Amino acid sequence: MASKNFNAFEMAQKQFDSVAEMLNLDQATKDLLRNPMREYHFSIPVKMDDGTVKVFRGFRVQHNDARGPGKGGIRFHPQETIDTVRALAMWMTWKTAVVDIPLGGSKGGVICDPHHLSMKEQEQICRGWVRQLSKDIGPLRDVPAPDVMTSAQHMLWMLDEYEIITGNKYPGLITGKPVGMGGSLGRTEATGYGVIFTLREALKELGIDPKKTKASVQGFGNVAQYAIELYLKLGGTVIAVSCWDQDDQTSYTFLKKDGIDFPKLLSITDQFGGINKDKAKALGYEILHGDAWIEQDVDILLPCALENQINSETVKKIQKNVKVIAEGANGPTTPEADAVIKERGIFMIPDFLANAGGVTCSYFEQVQSNMNYYWEKEEVLSKLDVKMTSAFLSVSELARTKKLYMRDAAYVIAIDRVAQACKERGWV
Ligand code: NAD
Repeated sequence: MASKNFNAFEMAQKQFDSVAEMLNLDQATKDLLRNPMREYHFSIPVKMDDGTVKVFRGFRVQHNDARGPGKGGIRFHPQETIDTVRALAMWMTWKTAVVDIPLGGSKGGVICDPHHLSMKEQEQICRGWVRQLSKDIGPLRDVPAPDVMTSAQHMLWMLDEYEIITGNKYPGLITGKPVGMGGSLGRTEATGYGVIFTLREALKELGIDPKKTKASVQGFGNVAQYAIELYLKLGGTVIAVSCWDQDDQTSYTFLKKDGIDFPKLLSITDQFGGINKDKAKALGYEILHGDAWIEQDVDILLPCALENQINSETVKKIQKNVKVIAEGANGPTTPEADAVIKERGIFMIPDFLANAGGVTCSYFEQVQSNMNYYWEKEEVLSKLDVKMTSAFLSVSELARTKKLYMRDAAYVIAIDRVAQACKERGWV
């Protein structure tokens, strides 16, 4: 979601340009990779419950599919913009490449606010989105998934519409489906757990015992919740979480210096990851302004909400004890803030590596759906751990040997793999 002064796509291109320079890519490869290969913009008319018809704007961007079918989520958000979708599609290309799964990068979105839409209205948006794109997506072409404010139910409606149109069963069309309807066990946990698999390896490398660490988290939705669950299992302490408050239209940080009680906090949280302020106050939480999560005296920061959260202003608030930032969200750090973090020597686990657990498990779901044979949860999560750990180790080894910032090392590996695939196919 773009704000007045922030354009996620410009940021994604800026990041790409600096690595393209490092890799000495030729002009054609640069031209190919700094823009999406294809994009679709369309209208979705919906018969609202009050009898009126409202038209919603939808998008799908296919950034690059040289390494395999496109892969990427669909967001429902009132401030969605095409440039955000473009940036996210590009980041998906790098994400699938850095974890070395045979998929490309895509992303989709609809400008809408599910908080103010009935389930029937949301179902029509889902079905309308697929009707507009049925020829341009598919299990061998481009495979959507859930993202911000879309769920397993939305995916099932989309799959159903696709199967009605094509007349066949294609559980591999879409991932993030409900378990028992083609979904994979472990998908709900995958992104948050993946963040912590990489954090665990980073702490190992830095010689830090997780039990002696404290963390502050931005967000309390799917990614944040499972990241917190696994981090607590490693013995860490979470002292702050933050979330968006729908009624006040602003964000708040919930602070408890001796550590949050995770199950209790979950019990006062709604389906959108919003924490009830009054109940939290009653449980002894200090309620602070939205940016307070970044100002805490902790070892680890876990931005798990939105892009553009660690920027040239907020980066100044990061305390001196912070040693690791693991980006659960996509694009939470701007290049200006990156420069400061690099300078300060904070260990950065960049978004497209840290949060690649979701797409890796989606890939497992697609494999299982295409085979029509489903694995046990332990098998999924242990395969996920292997993939995430090996991706982290390749990036951190390159960073160490070439003295690169972790984000740059991850980009070098990912962009090089995609550029190679384009070359080998004879595209450039
Ligand atoms: P979600 O909708 O489940 O949760 C989002 C959380 O962020 C909620 O708690 C919400 O209250 C909070 N939030 C929103 N605006 C905020 C603000 N301004 N300040 C503080 N908190 C705010 O979404 P999610 O699935 O957890 O996704 C979070 C991020 O992770 C997004 O950037 C998404 O693209 C990325 N991501 C998600 C997945 C996945 O599998 N879910 C995978 C990869 C990346």
